[in-house]
Amino acid sequence: MTLASRLSPETEEAVRARIAYFRDLGVFDFYRRECAASLRGVEASIESKEENLSAAEAELVESSSMLKAAVLPVIETPALPVAEEDKEAALAAIREDLGECTRCALAKGRNHVVFGEGDANARLMFVGEGPGADEDAQGRPFVGRAGQLLNNMIAAMGLRREQVYIANIVKCRPPQNRVPEPDEANTCSPFLFRQIDVIRPEVIVALGSTAATYLLGGKSPLSALRGRLHQARGAKLIVTYHPAYLLRDPRQKKEAWADLQLAMAELGLKKAEKPVE
Ligand code: URA
Repeated sequence: MTLASRLSPETEEAVRARIAYFRDLGVFDFYRRECAASLRGVEASIESKEENLSAAEAELVESSSMLKAAVLPVIETPALPVAEEDKEAALAAIREDLGECTRCALAKGRNHVVFGEGDANARLMFVGEGPGADEDAQGRPFVGRAGQLLNNMIAAMGLRREQVYIANIVKCRPPQNRVPEPDEANTCSPFLFRQIDVIRPEVIVALGSTAATYLLGGKSPLSALRGRLHQARGAKLIVTYHPAYLLRDPRQKKEAWADLQLAMAELGLKKAEKPVE
């Protein structure tokens, strides 16, 4: 009995789309769940396969509605390390897989996909929420006013922008710079995860709540996340305020500087005297 003969056309289409999506992400091997009853003879095995197929259908429906509605838990699959000299090419391959993406509704309003940029071997990575107007126009992350402040933050750490890697949870600008919807972030973030898996930074700084939410796979108030180390995709994750928020409330820069010093300590960077301007 083939899968196609058991599924409704809508579910079959959804399965096809889901498989194509995973292929885009570089996942090519799919396994049916093992059937516990398969040892009870052919008849029982067929019966249980039928059960499994309807369970698979139910799972698919459930997972597609989860994709739309909620922050998905992060699945930490150990990716094979990429040799230093191959990292640029590996990132280029991810960029190619992404293509002129139309996987979510953000594609409609964007001018440029903002993939991310920086040193493919960076020890430190910054992750923001999503491109704004300047980033959408130039196809580069953090190049507007918030980007200027991020540059100052990086410089205050004693680093140059080219030494770190900068990316966002979503690669296309949300209309009116609204927060990305869960289905948009859940659709896009696997590409960011692949970038992280290639770069293997020691420390990731999540800029703001959206970055923290999707890197950690769950939502908590920023105040509960700041000031301590978390784990994300094999890196130490530090959560701080988004530079755009710091532009609106500069009094919080002192707090952000404390977070960045935490990152510096983890990286063994010399403590700078000067806080973020
Ligand atoms: N805000 C973000 O979160 N990312 C950018 O790239 C620019 C502004």
